[in-house]
Parts: sequence; C-alpha cells; structure tokens
Amino acid sequence: MKFGRRTLLKFASLAVVSAHPKAFASEPTSALYDVIIVGGGGAGLSAAAHLAAGGKRVLLLEKTKEIGGSTKIASGQWAASGTKLQKLLEIEDSEELFVKDMMDVGEGFNSEALVKSFVAQSSKELAWIEARGVSPTSIMANAGMSVPRAHFFNPEDLIRVYRTECDKLGVRIETENPVIRLEKNSAGVVDTVIIKKGRSEYKVRAKDGIVLATGGFGRNVRMLRKYSPTSSKATPLCAEGCTGDGIILAQSLGADLDNMSFVKPTYGFLTYPENLNAKSSSFYAGGIVVNQEGFRFVRENASYKEIGEAALQQSNGKSFIILDERARKLALRTDPREKDYMADPTDIKHGFSANNLRDLAVKSGINPENLERTVKQYNETAPNGTDSLGR
Ligand SMILES: Cc1cc2nc3c(=O)[nH]c(=O)nc-3n(C[C@H](O)[C@H](O)[C@H](O)COP(=O)(O)OP(=O)(O)OC[C@H]3O[C@@H](n4cnc5c(N)ncnc54)[C@H](O)[C@@H]3O)c2cc1C
Repeated sequence: MKFGRRTLLKFASLAVVSAHPKAFASEPTSALYDVIIVGGGGAGLSAAAHLAAGGKRVLLLEKTKEIGGSTKIASGQWAASGTKLQKLLEIEDSEELFVKDMMDVGEGFNSEALVKSFVAQSSKELAWIEARGVSPTSIMANAGMSVPRAHFFNPEDLIRVYRTECDKLGVRIETENPVIRLEKNSAGVVDTVIIKKGRSEYKVRAKDGIVLATGGFGRNVRMLRKYSPTSSKATPLCAEGCTGDGIILAQSLGADLDNMSFVKPTYGFLTYPENLNAKSSSFYAGGIVVNQEGFRFVRENASYKEIGEAALQQSNGKSFIILDERARKLALRTDPREKDYMADPTDIKHGFSANNLRDLAVKSGINPENLERTVKQYNETAPNGTDSLGR
C-alpha cells in the first residue's frame, strides 16, 4: 500500500462484524427402506442420489418446508482438484497438493484419511454434476489454497440437479418431517428414526442404515456457547434447520465428537448484512484489517475463519478492512460480488472513502494517529517480507 502527493488515491474502509403434515404421516410405521437419510441439504441429497443409483430404496427426511439447507444459500465455491476448468486454464493441481493444503490449514489436527477421502470424492462429484449439465462459472484461489481451486456454482443449480436425480431414481423425499430420536434394534444396530408430526410421533425403519446429514449448529446458541464461544457473538447466517440436531441425536446414542473447538466464525460480512453476498474478501486483494484503535491484529492472508475468530475479540467485535485504490480494483477483478458495494470509489456501501488516511479514520471512527502509523509500518515492512504479523 503506497501513497504520495502526486497520485490521488482513494482509501476506503469497510466496517465488519465478525459478523401440513403430508400423507406420509399416516403410514410410515409399516414402511421399510434400505436407507433413511436425515437432512435434505447437499450432503443428504447427494447421498440419496448415489445410494438410489446403486439400487437402494431411499427415504430422505427434511425438517423444514424446503430441501436445500445451508447448501442452497452458500457462496457456491466448490473446492476440487484436477477438474476440466483447471485443465482448460492450465492450472496445475493434484490431489496430493489439495490434501497438503488442507492438512496445513488444519495444522495437522484434521484426520488425513478423512481429508484424502473428501479430496478424492470432491473432484469425482464435481465431474458427476458437470455430466448433468451444470458447470462452474469461474474459479479462484480461496484461503489456504496454493492454486485456484474454488469453483463457483450457483448452489440452487446444484440442489436442482440432485432433486431431479433423486426424483428420477425414486427417492422418497418428505419435507416437514423432523427426526427427533434414533433407536437401536435388539442387535444394537441403529435402524429406526422417530419423526414428530404435530403432537404425534412416527417410527420408520431402515434395513441397511441411517445417514445423518443435518448440517451445522449456527442457530443453536447453547451449542455455540459450548463449542465455539466467540462465534456466539456473530450474526448467524445459515439455514433455518441449522440447529445441530444430528450431533445431538448421535450423542444421545453415545457418539463422541471431534474437532469441535475448531469451529470458527467466517470473516468479511458487513455490519448489518442485507443478504449473504454482503461480504468482502478484499483483505485477500491487499487490504489490511484493523480494529477501532487503528491496529492490525491478524495476518490478513490467514484463513477467513482465523481472521473471524480474532476480529470478534476486538473492541465491540468490530474491525475495518482498509484498502487503497489498487486493492479495490484488484478486489473487483478477483470477486465480482465486490461490485455491489465498492464499484464506485466515492460511494463505498457500508463503509467510507477519503483521499487520505486521516480523513478516512475520522469518518470511520478509527484512531487516526494509530491508523497512519500502522499503514506506514506495514508499507515499510510487508514489501520486504518483514511484516510483524507475518503476512
Ligand atoms: C452463507 C454460507 C456460505 C457458504 N459458502 C460455502 C462455499 O462457498 N463453499 C463451501 O464449500 N461451503 C460453503 N458453506 C458451507 C456449506 O454450505 C456447508 O458446509 C454445506 O452446505 C453443508 O451441507 P449439509 O448438507 O451438511 O447441510 P445443510 O445444507 O445445512 O443441510 C442440512 C439439512 O438438514 C435438515 N435438518 C436438520 N435437522 C433435521 C432433523 N432433525 N430432521 C430432518 N432434517 C433436519 C436441515 O433443515 C437442512 O435442510 C457456506 C455456508 C454458509 C451458511
């Protein structure tokens, strides 16, 4: 970040807070399925489609009125390696590199076997989706990716493909059917779900197994406070059914949990987001992140989860992305969604712009002296690799 008298640069700051019972109810007790899937988001629908393609009789139960879950409202960036688009753009990637990147981000606490399985399946599944007529629109390198591998999809398209496939293969999908308990048979195998409909409860049994695909717990305050206390200060932006049911159901049968302390808030949502796109990743395009006191507190090339955790611990849970004109232009090129609030440098939505740092700080409510000092220090150290935070 450099500025001088002869060049008119615009600085901008963005304030961020981290952030009718159906006929089904009448007869499920007698029905027998091979597999029951609990949850109709991306995980549940893809499991349903693939199981049905393998000849299984599948029942999918969704608690809310619509299928899709958080998958349907996600940003749609699908991480995969060795894809058609990567090859077209001559991006050299491999499963080994993808695994290495994920293990690095997880600092070795993640299960390598699980990561390997995810990496292998992710590319296969992306190809499966492409074979059904939906392709990624663009690709970028997101946090922790050493090459561009985040493939952009419209998540609603993905849900539509899975739904079509499920319908074609005879998967029975029932919405407004929350599973509230699981039961084991006399051999100790979990084979029954209990569904609540109004005041009644119904049992359905599956011969080969039950898949729990109920998503996360961003809307369960008690669980957030327990497993990710910092996140409980953030605005929840996940689907209505994101209440940790599957975790609770599994625990009730004695399941243990792993890696829960790594659940972190996402960084970059604007104060009072109007929608899920009200988010800026311009800190990856060169912006720096400061608190109200005008100090940086995290290296901005860390994962947006790490930044989120650090940001919520600042005064009033508030932080600011400070960017100059060059970073603004780069951010616009890297992520088209940025145009919603920084297309015009003189009119930054949810933020401020000024011709110098002092004015910007005053407008934004940041300590001006400290901000000037922070930017000066950053400009003196970052370009030669001696940034105090290791960016
Ligand atoms: C705003 C946002 C942006 C994101 N962007 C990305 C991204 O770009 N890339 C990426 O890889 N990930 C992203 N994620 C994360 C990603 O969306 C999730 O990891 C993924 O969608 C989880 O899929 P799922 O099927 O496990 O859960 P979900 O899609 O949430 O589906 C779970 C379903 O289970 C249902 N359910 C819950 N309890 C019960 C019950 N008791 N009985 C029956 N049904 C139940 C829920 O109602 C829900 O429909 C994002 C998440 C959010 C919220």
